[in-house]
Amino acid sequence: MRGPSLDDPVTTLAGVSDVYEERLERIGVRTLRDLLLFFPRRYEDFSSITPIAFLRPGVKTTVRGRIYDIGARQTKYKRGLTEALLGDDSGTTLRVVWFNQPWIAKSLQKGDEIFVAGEADLNGGLVMKNPDHEKVSLRPQHAARLVPIYRETEGLTSKWLRSKIQSLLRYADEIEEFLPGELLQRRGFLSRAEAVRQAHFPGSAQALERARERLAFEEMFVLQLAAQLAKRARKALTAQPVPFDEPTARGFVKALPFQLTNAQRVAAWQILQDIARPQPMNRLLEGDVGSGKTVVAAMTMHHVARAGFQSVLLAPTEVLARQHADVIQSLLGPFQIDVGLLVGSTPATARKPMLASLADGDLPVLIGTHALIEEGVQFKDLALTVVDEQHRFGVGQRLAVRQKSERTPHFLSMTATPIPRTLGLTLFGDLDISILGEMPPGRQPVKTRMVPPEKRADAYNFIRKQVNAGRQVFVICPLIQESDKLGVRSATQELEKLQRDVFPELAPRIALLHGRLKSAEKEAVMAGFQRGDVAILVSTSVVEVGIDIPNATVMMIEGADRFGLAQLHQFRGRVGRGTEESWCFLFTDAEDPQSLKRLQAVVTNQSGFDLAEIDLELRGWGDLAGYRQHGKDFKMASLLDAVLISDAQSEAVRLLDRDPALDGEPALRRQLSAYRQVFALD
Ligand code: ADP
Ligand code: MG
Repeated sequence: MRGPSLDDPVTTLAGVSDVYEERLERIGVRTLRDLLLFFPRRYEDFSSITPIAFLRPGVKTTVRGRIYDIGARQTKYKRGLTEALLGDDSGTTLRVVWFNQPWIAKSLQKGDEIFVAGEADLNGGLVMKNPDHEKVSLRPQHAARLVPIYRETEGLTSKWLRSKIQSLLRYADEIEEFLPGELLQRRGFLSRAEAVRQAHFPGSAQALERARERLAFEEMFVLQLAAQLAKRARKALTAQPVPFDEPTARGFVKALPFQLTNAQRVAAWQILQDIARPQPMNRLLEGDVGSGKTVVAAMTMHHVARAGFQSVLLAPTEVLARQHADVIQSLLGPFQIDVGLLVGSTPATARKPMLASLADGDLPVLIGTHALIEEGVQFKDLALTVVDEQHRFGVGQRLAVRQKSERTPHFLSMTATPIPRTLGLTLFGDLDISILGEMPPGRQPVKTRMVPPEKRADAYNFIRKQVNAGRQVFVICPLIQESDKLGVRSATQELEKLQRDVFPELAPRIALLHGRLKSAEKEAVMAGFQRGDVAILVSTSVVEVGIDIPNATVMMIEGADRFGLAQLHQFRGRVGRGTEESWCFLFTDAEDPQSLKRLQAVVTNQSGFDLAEIDLELRGWGDLAGYRQHGKDFKMASLLDAVLISDAQSEAVRLLDRDPALDGEPALRRQLSAYRQVFALD
């Protein structure tokens, strides 16, 4: 009899009810294939178990114990904290705590026997924080030496997953091979089916290694192929060449109120070379917060306008779009180059003539927010698109512009979130990178401190002194409740607290900024802050990017553990822009070691590049690259593995040289389609 198809839903499997279907859906598993490809997070050799009495702090190990007591409580920011007391035959007890995993308290009971695997710390006795755990099963399910441990979530235990996956393994042969046969043979890889089997239930440590090697390779290979294909496709497109003109470049630089840094000079040169070609530029300008990316973009736009073509700059928020428009207008105005601003609040009366002059080619430079411009602006001859501060590293963000000319605009993406070198290579076989690795002269590092609840009053006193000395302060609020999607409530409460309880004497000079405000209100608040009338600006993360207020010297971040490292670094970059000493306070009541470690990284590192590397190590790359939004995730491959990357890249090039359209590799083509969206050019 024919077995099920791997495309069938998980409910085809005995014992998978609707309830489980929903739980599996949460981990992205819908079909039988998805389940087969849901790989263990790690493996446990349950034969080696340490009695609690012999535990050593700082050593990773597994403990088998009975739950003497278990309970849950909440910390201030509504984080769940589960605590359990374990005991074993060695006569000692171990305290175990889990953060943010409220379901654990529900799934375990007093008297249960469980395994916990992790590292114990000394903290008034031995404590194990956030260990992996599993109930001890009465009948050991298999004899394998290495037992797979899966990522658990509410209602889905590793044990349950193990039994279901085991029953599925006999269909593993249905998993289609997609690596070219020649490559498989030459590199001596396991077949896909065998690799999947070994990844779940390894026969030996060596077999597991080979399985991982194969699976990591296939992931990286498909990504590299997609990048190479995108690169080749881009080479086939035509762009408007913008001839390099030395007097134009010199004229712009001469009119600046400062000297360009060397890094800015080099980046501008690379960009101006690129846009002189008839193929579209695809370049990322990476530079830490405050490194001066805007002026490089303005210099490029100046060049494009002088050659008689149009450019557009897209900002992620309206506040930032306005600021860019002001700055760029002041840089290009002296050359009689008009800059248009198009944002949600632009009145119809202004919009209509602007759209007309864009279509006629009379307006050379447009600045606005993504949504708006993507919606329906037509250009006459757009030669350059600049995208600012998009946290997604330049992928899949090429703008769908409509224009009368057939040509593809040159594309420049700017970001302060740096891509570690290896990651850049990986994701962007198709992207050229310019780096502003140098700050304009005279910048001071921002002194960064973590502020636990008991130090809050001191921090407020410090802020009061700064304000009295004429300085200004940002206060950033996190999203606390799910229902408060824009953080409006959180920021409003913070404003009230500061005005009423903390700084009553400054109440009229404390203002609020969030996404729900009308444009005019936002503008008024920002203008007040710019003038210095507003001393303390309470804001949601909308100020995250780009805002330039040199007199602001304190950045205070509430619930700092709720933000990513790149984001925290961005916030911090809002201060330290003038000549005064500046401060960043990270308020947190987090207790878990992972969060504290991340915040400590921000305290000790001033470089966004270093922080990006650390973020990648601590959190994995998915959040960093924003790839997850595309439903693409890596299971085996490490994006920091330079050897794997370069191997996969050279194999991709080799295959495409031989079979450019992959005519002989239909299975591989199907795999690639998942990436099409990510690398799509237009
Ligand atoms: P970011 O790279 O974060 O976008 P900006 O472009 O906003 O940084 O620049 C930050 C500040 O530095 C601005 O006030 C800008 O005028 C200033 N600036 C840029 N380049 C230089 C330079 N070469 N010398 C001095 N100041 C500069
Ligand atoms: Mg900027």
